Amino acid sequence: MQCWICAAPASATCRFCGRAVCRDDARIHPFVLEVYESGGTHYGLAVEDAIHCGICKPKPDPVLMEFLDEARAPRPNSKRKAAQK
Ligand SMILES: [Zn+2]
Ligand SMILES: [Zn+2]
Repeated sequence: MQCWICAAPASATCRFCGRAVCRDDARIHPFVLEVYESGGTHYGLAVEDAIHCGICKPKPDPVLMEFLDEARAPRPNSKRKAAQK
């Protein structure tokens, strides 16, 4: 595998997007492995220096997956005819 950035032999892959990078181009970025709750408080198990390609942009906050919420919980008035506008 070759580095995504400079095409040198890659020595790692980005933990976030999977791009391969060489030692020179690899960056580090904290990576949250797992979040758990204890006594009403949430804790995250994190790796401080996970490999990051420097290209992709991991979001610092969770992203709402609203389309999943809708699929899981159909609205009560969904019996309305879909063809009507
Ligand atoms: Zn490189
Ligand atoms: Zn990446």
